[in-house]
Amino acid sequence: MSEKQPSIKFIDFPLSSVIRIHPDQISHLKKLNLHTVGDILRHFPTRYGGTSEAQYVKDLIVGQSATIYGRIGKLKTGKSFKSHKAMAEGIVSDNTGSLKVVWLHQPYIAKLIQEGSLVKVTGKVTKRGEYNGMMNPEIESVGVLPDQIGHNLFAGSEQPIEHFSPVYPETKGVTSKWIYHTLQRIFKNPLFETIEDPIPTEILKKYNLPGLVTSLIWIHTPQKESDAQVARKRFSFEEVFYIQIKNQQVRAAAQKEKAYVIEPSSKHLKEFTDRFPFALTESQKKSTKDILDDFKKGTPMSRLLEGDVGSGKTAVAATTAYGVVTTRPKNKESKTQDFGNLQVAYMAPTEILAKQHFESFITYFKHMPISIGFISGTGCRKFPSKVNGGGLGGNRGTSGNNGWTDISRAQLLKWVKNGEIAILIGTHALIQKTVEFKDLAYVIIDEQHRFGTMQRQKLARKHNVTPHLLSMTATPIPRTLALTLYGDLDLSLIDQMPTGRKPIITEIITEPKREATYEKIKQELRDGRQVYVICPRIEEADPDKEQALNVKSVVEEAKRLKEKIFKEWNIDILHSKMKPKEKDAVMGQFEKKEIDILVATSVVEVGVNVPNATIILIEGAERFGLSQLHQLRGRVIRSNHQAYCYVLSDSKSDKTVERLKALNTAKNGFELSEIDLKLRGAGELYGGKQWGITDIGMEAIKNIKMVEAARNEAQIIVKEDSTLSAYPILKQTIDTKREIHFE
Ligand code: ADP
Ligand code: MG
Repeated sequence: MSEKQPSIKFIDFPLSSVIRIHPDQISHLKKLNLHTVGDILRHFPTRYGGTSEAQYVKDLIVGQSATIYGRIGKLKTGKSFKSHKAMAEGIVSDNTGSLKVVWLHQPYIAKLIQEGSLVKVTGKVTKRGEYNGMMNPEIESVGVLPDQIGHNLFAGSEQPIEHFSPVYPETKGVTSKWIYHTLQRIFKNPLFETIEDPIPTEILKKYNLPGLVTSLIWIHTPQKESDAQVARKRFSFEEVFYIQIKNQQVRAAAQKEKAYVIEPSSKHLKEFTDRFPFALTESQKKSTKDILDDFKKGTPMSRLLEGDVGSGKTAVAATTAYGVVTTRPKNKESKTQDFGNLQVAYMAPTEILAKQHFESFITYFKHMPISIGFISGTGCRKFPSKVNGGGLGGNRGTSGNNGWTDISRAQLLKWVKNGEIAILIGTHALIQKTVEFKDLAYVIIDEQHRFGTMQRQKLARKHNVTPHLLSMTATPIPRTLALTLYGDLDLSLIDQMPTGRKPIITEIITEPKREATYEKIKQELRDGRQVYVICPRIEEADPDKEQALNVKSVVEEAKRLKEKIFKEWNIDILHSKMKPKEKDAVMGQFEKKEIDILVATSVVEVGVNVPNATIILIEGAERFGLSQLHQLRGRVIRSNHQAYCYVLSDSKSDKTVERLKALNTAKNGFELSEIDLKLRGAGELYGGKQWGITDIGMEAIKNIKMVEAARNEAQIIVKEDSTLSAYPILKQTIDTKREIHFE
């Protein structure tokens, strides 16, 4: 890093090579992830502080911070009256009045600024004798003002002044002004012009996008608004384009690999599904068929199964898994042991969810000679509990715990490796190196949006033969986002709910109706139902702490409900700061109906299944996206009892209430996600930076044409040249791009 060899690209130069870094700044720069020239070039302004913020001197209010533009005069240096400290002072005037500015300890300022020049001054307004004043304000020479500014400033016009000074995400010691000056140095460096554009010129031309160097100048120092817009457009296109290239590469590579051919007999499949206590919906049948068709091809499947909460994805997973675990690997036809079949790995994002899948798979498979394992960071389990080589004679579900037993990790890993355990279900622990399979043929990932592409692929690539991959999600996301994030996957949709489900009654509740709502809930409790109360997350670092103070917390709210509202009912809490064991215990009690009301954070959002819980009350709903509220609501459409969702919002704004009303008007989760995208901005889609796409990239997500263009171009390039040999800079950029993580 220290030597400036010609082979190091300008964008990789450390910042200290272009500007002197004060020792105090080092840690602050680190906080903003600013290490190299490239980092700061891509530290984009969040907005441009126009002079709409600037005030006239006559309008200044003592005690408030303000920015004014004016001409500076009467500059002088000297010693302060009382303390004899070095100081500088001057008078800044616009056509409405004058302001005295004083810099204590900073006499050199008077030398930096020219008498009579135009300046921008920002500081807190104080009273200084006959004048208003500012103590130690920030001052910046604005050179010759464009006509309009001059006109406005000195002719008394009230029109806002056009001026684009970029405002950056900043931190102590790294101000927008400092960033701006550093960028000016970079722009003046002769090497700046040598930065190469990874996007092929033909593509830029085709879509009228500016080149990289121009875009960088325009985004940081636009002369007019359209410059900034065009530059942002380029960077948002670029981000989506890179993701698409990577996805297309993954897809192309997968299609070259070999996978097990799996062709279960339809007779056996029918026998398996005939045992279900319900008939599969047409959507479930169609999705199952999509998967089984892929299984026949000999190349690995990469498929996304998308279906609303409660649409029955687990049954599809189980049916297709059945096809796999009853198939013998091609090269091992000789029947020596009865556990020589292909294996399935099933990964879920949380411990609670993984355990629920383990339980439901036991129910689906307990009539068969199949061993099922469970693995997480906290422990391992095996079904059936009796260790007997997986035959039928073991304990298959007579005991209270559905027939499984705790086993040691070492023992589990041994059985996974020798193939005795046919289906391994678990959390992230599944992708650890130590977990080796004998013949892993099928990987199922639930709620896959929580895992990055690379995590997905890591599990898939664990073997010589690439396993088939099924990603499942109930998170409805806008089409543009799906195309971008999952460009490497084929899609199956379950767009139909099992019959007999009553539509959930959703009500937006404002404060005056709170008590009446509690009464309704009490009635349901008396009828034997159970309730979730959701409070906005408090356990995870909250970016806007001030708001967090007003937000209901799980612990406090549970206490309040017990003391004041639901005295005679059992109440407990669930949140992600609890230990896995505690969470399990609480979930277990809730399932057994030892708890009537579960006050929780959105940890219950993903996949938790307690059919008797038919009411969900969501506090602080304005803090959740519509898709997330829809997900939460999904917790209570698990049975044929009438379900209720009460959405409470402290927000007085009509806009918020309008937005929440969409929960009743939108047809499905997809529609809600589109509304989220429009109303809340993509950055907030489904809660923050979950998707790993930057704010600027998200601008593209709002624009289906741009996403399609990026996808088309990426497809063309990768189809002709999947290793990007003809595009060295693009290749390097893509290869060094960090994998996005989603947790
Ligand atoms: P999700 O798609 O949210 O993962 P699940 O697979 O957990 O949904 O299914 C939700 C519930 O619906 C489960 O209790 C399951 O047994 C039941 N179920 C699944 N398919 C059907 C069906 N076709 N008819 C009736 N109930 C079904
Ligand atoms: Mg599920």
